[in-house]
Amino acid sequence: MRKILLLVTLGLFSLSLSAQPELSRVTPRNDLTQMAREPFQVFDNVYFIGQGEVASYVIETSEGLILIDTMWDLPGYTEYLLDNMIALDLSPKDIKYVLILQGHRDHYMGAPALKEILNAQWGANAADWELIEADLGPYSPPRDLVIEEGDTLTLGELTIEFEITPGHTPGTTSMRFPVYDNGVMYNAYFHGGTALRLDDPEIVMEFIRDCERIKNIPNLDVQIVNHYDIHPQGALNLFERAEVLKNRQPGDPHPWVAPDEIVRLMDELIAGAEEVLANLE
Ligand SMILES: [Zn+2]
Repeated sequence: MRKILLLVTLGLFSLSLSAQPELSRVTPRNDLTQMAREPFQVFDNVYFIGQGEVASYVIETSEGLILIDTMWDLPGYTEYLLDNMIALDLSPKDIKYVLILQGHRDHYMGAPALKEILNAQWGANAADWELIEADLGPYSPPRDLVIEEGDTLTLGELTIEFEITPGHTPGTTSMRFPVYDNGVMYNAYFHGGTALRLDDPEIVMEFIRDCERIKNIPNLDVQIVNHYDIHPQGALNLFERAEVLKNRQPGDPHPWVAPDEIVRLMDELIAGAEEVLANLE
């Protein structure tokens, strides 16, 4: 009898533990004492509010703001993200949507705290919603939007077009949208996860097809990245680029406008994925 009681107690204990997400551990990648960076405006309508390794962005429209990804759950992150917005004159209460482009912790762990503060709708692809909900349980943000291939989201004058680009996660979500540099429009591509992690041959082949397709999108000018170093070999990283932007003189090109880099990056991703595929066969 005592044994049974003990088992029941242990069972309840593990049940209550599984309902609460396990806190992330401090690593060099997420330690804010080392990773805090100055937030900055990238384009008229795009702001970087991330840290030194993983990004978070605000897209501004006439009808409110869209927050992309929420970073980590370690102490200080919520304040960091909101303070970065305020430093750029962006009001967190104007956030209408929060979009999570991939179901990995560095992109969604800020959500449980932010959902208590923000009055926003939350969006991700169904496959990655499953990852987020399995991890966060009742602390998960609500599944307000289930983003599917070809969906669009319009807020004010801005329309985002979504593509589901699996490979990093099953439901990695990418976005196409216009960005503006002193009023001049450029076409941006924001890939939700360029590092191939899944080794299902079908998904690897889909990843390659997506990269081929992205490479051939006409008039793609700008790549927005969710980690600081997602650029083709030899190209400036996010913070090196930010330095160029900061010191830009009138008439200088915007350092994010680099159509050839998108093609080069896609070629590198395709080559890497083909190697993965060859090793699978
Ligand atoms: Zn990831």
